[in-house]
Amino acid sequence: MPRPVVATISLAAMRHNLSVARACAPGAFVWAVVKADGYGHGLANARAGFDQADGLALVEFDAAGRLRASGWTRPLLMLDGAFDPADTAQAAAQQLTLVVHGMHQLDWIARLPAHRRVDIYLKMNSGMNRLGFPAAAFGAAIGRARALPAVRSITLMTHFADADRDHGTDEALQRFRHAAAGCPGAQSLARSLANSAALLSDPATRAAAVRPGIMLYGGTPFAHRDAQSLGLRAAMHFGSRLVGVQSVPAGEAIGYGSTFRAAQPMRIGVVACGYADGYPRHAPPGTPVAVGGVRTRIVGRVSMDLLTVDLEPVPGADVGAPVQLWGDVIPVDEVAAASGTIGYQLMCAVAPRVDRRVRAGERAGE
Ligand SMILES: *Cc1c(COP(=O)(O)O)cnc(C)c1O
Repeated sequence: MPRPVVATISLAAMRHNLSVARACAPGAFVWAVVKADGYGHGLANARAGFDQADGLALVEFDAAGRLRASGWTRPLLMLDGAFDPADTAQAAAQQLTLVVHGMHQLDWIARLPAHRRVDIYLKMNSGMNRLGFPAAAFGAAIGRARALPAVRSITLMTHFADADRDHGTDEALQRFRHAAAGCPGAQSLARSLANSAALLSDPATRAAAVRPGIMLYGGTPFAHRDAQSLGLRAAMHFGSRLVGVQSVPAGEAIGYGSTFRAAQPMRIGVVACGYADGYPRHAPPGTPVAVGGVRTRIVGRVSMDLLTVDLEPVPGADVGAPVQLWGDVIPVDEVAAASGTIGYQLMCAVAPRVDRRVRAGERAGE
C-alpha cells in the first residue's frame, strides 16, 4: 500500500486565483509562472489549472519542451533566458520568448540561422543586482537588440527586489522609467514589471504584461497580509493520516533528541509525513497542523518519514484519521512563518515521492 501522504491539487483554486490576478490588471497579458514544477504542484497540473492564462513562464528548457510536446501553443516565457547557445536554438525552434539579461545572450541570438526569429524580454537591473542590464547599459542593449534580424519583438522588463514591502517598488520603478526614458525608441516598447507582490500592491507596476507566481497557488507574497485577506485559495492540500497513537505519561519525551517533554499525560498522534516528504525539519513544536479538520500542533522533532502531533483538541482521533499539513485549514504561510521560511519554499520542496493528485471531480472531463 502506498504511504498515505498526498498533495491534492485543486485546479478550481488555481483558476480562481488566476481570475484574481486578472482582476488586478484588467487588459494585461497574464503570464502564469510555472517554474519549479509549477511551484511544486506538478507542471501538468499547473498547465491545466492555468489553461486560461495568456502564457506560461518558467526557467527550465526541458519543461518548456514538454509543454510544447503536450500541445501548449500559447506563448512561453523563459524567465532566466538561455543558459547556452543550444537553449537559444531551442527557443527559436519552439517559439519560446527569451528574457535577455546580458550581452552574451544577444551574441547567441545573433548567431541563429538567418530564417530564425525570437521574441525577447530585455531585462534591466532596477536594484536587485541579480540579473539584468545596468541602467547605463540598457540603451545600448536595446539598440543592439533592435539591430538583430533574429529579434522579432522587444518587451522591456524588470524584476522588483522589495515589492513585498510598503512602497517597495517606488525606487526601482523610478530607476526603470528613468532609464527607459533616456533610451531612444524605448517609449513605444511594451513593458512587464509586476510579480505577485507588485501586482497586488502597486497599480503603477501593472504594465502591458504581468508575471504572477505565488498568488496563483494561493500563497501570499507578503509577510503581513495573509492569502485569505487577498481573496486567494490554497491550490495545494498537503495531507496524510495518523499511522499510530501513543498515550504518553507526564515527564516522557517525544521524538529524536527528546526535545519535547510531556508536562501532563498526552495522547500523541504519529503522522506519516516527514522531512523526506518536504515537511520542514526545523518546524518547531507548536507549528499548526489539522487532525480530522481540527487545528492542533506538532510536538517533538520532525523525522524523515514521520512527525508527531498533540491529540488533546481531537480526543476521538485514532489511526487512519486524516491530517492536513497545509491547505485550506492550515495556510502554508503559517507553517512557513513558524519554520522561519516562506510558503514558496515549502510548496517547491514537496518531494518527488509524494503523489500529486488532482482533487476528485476537477480533472478534465469529470
Ligand atoms: C518567479 C518570478 C516571478 C513570479 O514571482 P512571484 O513572487 O511568485 O509572483 C516573476 N518574475 C520573475 C522574473 C520571476 O523569476
